[in-house]
Amino acid sequence: MTNADKLREVRKQLEVDYASLPLVSSAKDTVPGEGNPNAEIMFIGEAAGRNEALLRRPFVGLAGKLVDKQLEAIGIPRKEVYISNVVKCRPPDNRDPLPEEIAAFAPYLDREIEVLDPKLIITLGRFSMGKFIPDVKISMIHGRLHKMKFQGKMRFVLPFYHPAAALRQGKVMDMFIADFKKVPKILEYVNSKKAELEFETTVHETLF
Ligand code: URA
Repeated sequence: MTNADKLREVRKQLEVDYASLPLVSSAKDTVPGEGNPNAEIMFIGEAAGRNEALLRRPFVGLAGKLVDKQLEAIGIPRKEVYISNVVKCRPPDNRDPLPEEIAAFAPYLDREIEVLDPKLIITLGRFSMGKFIPDVKISMIHGRLHKMKFQGKMRFVLPFYHPAAALRQGKVMDMFIADFKKVPKILEYVNSKKAELEFETTVHETLF
C-alpha cells in the first residue's frame, strides 16, 4: 500500500467514526489533512475554521493564505508539504479546542505522522506545539528546532506561532516571517542528521 492509500484510509476512518467524535454531527463535518503523501515537511495547525469546514480542507482561509505566501517566499510550493490539524473539525465560534477534543482526534493525527514519517514537523500555534513540547510558552521556543522521541522514533519539531496570531499582531508577524525563513537551512540540517537518528538516545534537545 502506498502512503497515499494509507492516508486515504485515515480520512475514510475519520468519516466512518464521525458519530463517536466530539463536535461532529455528520461525516461531512470532518476536515482531514491534505498534501504530498511523501512530504518532507508536515505542518500541524489547531482546528478548522469557517472556510476549512466549508471546503473540508485545512488552512484555506486567511491564515492559510499567509502560510502559502511564506512557503512561496522560501521556494517550497504548498503541494510539496502536508498540512493537518490537531482537531479535525471546527470548534464553535473558533474557540480553543478542549483537552478531550484534542485527545479524541489524536489517533488520526498520530497515524498521519506515522505514515508520513516527515523529516520535519512544523507546529502552528500552541495546541500543536503542546502535543510535542508541553508546558512551555510559545514565545520562548518559537523558531527553535527540537529533537525528541515521539511514537518511539526521533523526530525534529519546529514550533511556529499560529498564522492567525501573526495576522492579528505586527510583532508576531515579523517573528512568523523570520521563523519561516529558517526552514531551508533547518531542512538541510535535519536531512544531514537523518541517518544518525536511528542511534539517538537523547529524549529532548533544543538545537538551533
Ligand atoms: N487554523 C488552523 O489552526 N487550522 C486551519 O486549518 C485553519 C485555521
